[in-house]
Amino acid sequence: MTFAELRLAEPILRALAAENYIHPTPIQAQAIPPVMEGRDVLGCAQTGTGKTAAFALPMLHRFSQKPAQNGQRRHIRALILSPTRELAVQIDESFRAYGKHLGLRHTVIFGGVSQHHQVQSLRNGTDIVVATPGRLLDLMNQGHVDLRHVEVFVLDEADRMLDMGFINDIRRIIPKLPPKRQNLLFSATMPQDIRQLADSILRNPVSVTVTPVASTAEKIDQSVYLVEKRNKPFLLAHFLNNTGFSRALVFTRTKHGADRVVRQLAKSGITSEAIHGNKSQNARQRALSNFKSGKTPVLIASDIAARGIDIDDISHVIQFDLSNEPETYVHRIGRTARAGASGTAVSFCDRDERSYLKAIERLIRKEIRVADDQPEYPAADHSQRHAEASDNRPRPQGHRRPERHPSSQPSHPHHRQDRKPQHAAHPHKQTRTQQQAHPTPPRAQQGQRPQQGNRTQHAHKAASRPLHGGWSRPNKPASRRFR
Ligand code: AMP
Repeated sequence: MTFAELRLAEPILRALAAENYIHPTPIQAQAIPPVMEGRDVLGCAQTGTGKTAAFALPMLHRFSQKPAQNGQRRHIRALILSPTRELAVQIDESFRAYGKHLGLRHTVIFGGVSQHHQVQSLRNGTDIVVATPGRLLDLMNQGHVDLRHVEVFVLDEADRMLDMGFINDIRRIIPKLPPKRQNLLFSATMPQDIRQLADSILRNPVSVTVTPVASTAEKIDQSVYLVEKRNKPFLLAHFLNNTGFSRALVFTRTKHGADRVVRQLAKSGITSEAIHGNKSQNARQRALSNFKSGKTPVLIASDIAARGIDIDDISHVIQFDLSNEPETYVHRIGRTARAGASGTAVSFCDRDERSYLKAIERLIRKEIRVADDQPEYPAADHSQRHAEASDNRPRPQGHRRPERHPSSQPSHPHHRQDRKPQHAAHPHKQTRTQQQAHPTPPRAQQGQRPQQGNRTQHAHKAASRPLHGGWSRPNKPASRRFR
């Protein structure tokens, strides 16, 4: 199928050709005809499926058939609500690209910046408003926004809207819209509360569904590293240094975590920038455009800031921390393999995140492959156990890791693999019992690395230990151990 077959107006087809869009994506093929007919639509689609064009193209088509008359004051004909500023900006950019031959005006409204230009643009008259709920309400309360002429209302990423606590704002905005209007609601997931919200907004909607959240994009190569929390920075630097990537997007749980990862990578000579809610809007846009242009090949993001980042060619999505919301995993990996491209998603799971990994695997109904190409980690410095993980930064090549005193740990490799964590009760008792139960297997059988270099006997022994200083459950296959 081609866009021409969808009977979109010629100026829109011309704009699409300039964007190199030839075939509609499945959500576009399904949603464009009913939206063009004026029907309400409930769309279940995650980011990366082309859902912005799925609602923007037919909307532009309808508006182009009934343009505002010259000299007439423009009224807001479409309101699109987005959960984040980044997504709002990107939707607005899409309207600019797809509607560039139509002469329609569009305005994007979001908080964190001066309202001056936004108010100016509203005063000048605009056809399409893309907004985040908070700033929109603010401007509505100041009397700058008149929604009485809205013909199409779009609620994008509705599940995120609810996650981010925007439900009350949405409930305050909707009564200001005229009752007779077209409604489009898009969400990556359809839990009960979204269905209820959809029921309260949509009238006799057509439902369109693509790539349900439970079946993560098939084209994404997914794997997980089981890694001790303190080894994550080392693993990230190692991974980036040894992987051919074009653009890597790294997710952390917190804003501070994002900044910390930037510092840790810098110590390994890897340039990255962080994007999160503590940064000014300008700093976020700058980081995004550096990432887009390839100046900064690695972007570290917290979820909220990364929501809706519309950048093609993200070759790798790395989840430095796993989220406790399994659906976030799906949102995050949706940043790669956009619009049919293939991509790679790797996740770092520490032992505190095991239950999150299980929940993710349950949601996507698939076991994620455990990556077994972990590097040799620097030995843990137990005197600084609680120090910032950056102390585990990679050492320059050839730099010998500090040796631990042989008495500080049992020297027998097998004991150490079965060792309880140091804080567990009676670690030595446990070790001795297991020592008797399991005779020493040959090193090769344990998957130990070959010895290298001219080491002293202590060093030799130290090198034969698992260097993560961690512990693993007995009888676990090597690939399922935390390192
Ligand atoms: P979205 O899901 O709307 O965030 O879109 C994901 C990405 O796919 C964006 O970068 C779009 O520019 C791109 N895209 C959307 N529709 C098409 C299409 N029909 N052909 C090629 N690329 C597309």
